[in-house]
Amino acid sequence: MSSLSPLLKQATPVIVDHAKGSWIHGTDGQDYLDFTTGIGVTSTGHCHPRVVEAAREQVGRVIHAQYTTVMHRPLLELTEKLGEVLPTGLDSVFYANSGSEAVEAAVRLARMATGRPNIVVFQGGFHGRTVAAASLTTAGTKFSAGFAPLMAGVHMAPFPYAFRYGWDEQTAVDFALRELDYLLLSRTAPHDTAAFLIEPVLGDGGYLPTPPAFLDGLRERADRHGILLLLDEVQAGCGRTGRFWGHQHSTALPDILITAKGLASGFPISAIAASTALMSKGWPGSQGGTYGGNAVAAAAGCATLDVIRDEGLVENARLRGEQLIGGLKPLQGKYAEIGDVRGLGLMLGIEFVHADGSADAETAAAVQQATTRHGLLSLTCGPAGNVVRLIPALVVTADEIDLGIERFQASVAHVLE
Ligand code: PMP
Repeated sequence: MSSLSPLLKQATPVIVDHAKGSWIHGTDGQDYLDFTTGIGVTSTGHCHPRVVEAAREQVGRVIHAQYTTVMHRPLLELTEKLGEVLPTGLDSVFYANSGSEAVEAAVRLARMATGRPNIVVFQGGFHGRTVAAASLTTAGTKFSAGFAPLMAGVHMAPFPYAFRYGWDEQTAVDFALRELDYLLLSRTAPHDTAAFLIEPVLGDGGYLPTPPAFLDGLRERADRHGILLLLDEVQAGCGRTGRFWGHQHSTALPDILITAKGLASGFPISAIAASTALMSKGWPGSQGGTYGGNAVAAAAGCATLDVIRDEGLVENARLRGEQLIGGLKPLQGKYAEIGDVRGLGLMLGIEFVHADGSADAETAAAVQQATTRHGLLSLTCGPAGNVVRLIPALVVTADEIDLGIERFQASVAHVLE
């Protein structure tokens, strides 16, 4: 007799029987509006017919060939399709299974390409759970506590978290860029610094959009010092923020882009993209892995990219995101406990605070649990756990957003009134 480990922290008691689009049907007979999408993964909704069909078809052809042993068609096609959406110049791609692996691979590439050891990350960033990825993660001590010694060569700079500092965005950006310059003077010299690594929207760290001016400031410094800009688009990419890539809200372009999650609607695959010139600074055989770029996952990835394009899902994410934030923003004025409602596209965070502005994790947790009872699945995030996040599928309809707003309002009222 075995049972699931107590190391896991279950966000909801729901056991899924089957799921379709924005809906999860539980074994308890209840229908849940899913605003978690498996942590931002089921981009085209649960079991989109074209994704199901592509995967089904591929399972009957070849499941696994290992792409550095025998190449397969789905991966070549996915690479071609990614070429249509990747920023100009990022014309070379390789694959892994998860976000964490892809982040590690990108960091390795950055170190190989520059010959420099250090990586600068930004406070609140989440990059994964393996030892290197956890070393780069500052979204909460739970991700690295008990894991020491961590990977060396990681330095953390402040993130322009305007709400937390009680500043306007420009003041926060100016401060964070000044502190970054100071870090490059005081702790990690530019000639020792391989990369800046940042998410276009902090995900697990609190659903905080990175201000465009900050990304632009990083790009300018990266160019000035020969440092690479690594963008972790694992959660914010593939249409989620209302642009195909989260960084496209600014003018900054990455040197290395990391994507996963929404890329294949639930099949595990991640990709690392850079210019051929940059990739050529590493050596053949330095990247790879048994399952990375799996044929069924790649086929599902192709179908996902087709569906995102054919169904206009990036635009839908933008419009439905505006509807969602528009519906929830009034809660900020109604309840003192709601300090901030923010987001980009379908990546929305509601931050709960005490009267003195400090994090109110208890209320956030109570609201998150109340949403399940009201038929809406949500998650919390942020180092203090005081942000409730909503991550609907990109196929979410206007009616489903209205229903989600209604259920979220009812959940907040249930906890706070
Ligand atoms: N980077 C970001 C921005 C993420 O959101 C995540 C997952 N939450 C990861 C990396 C790690 O991805 P995975 O869980 O697939 O290893």
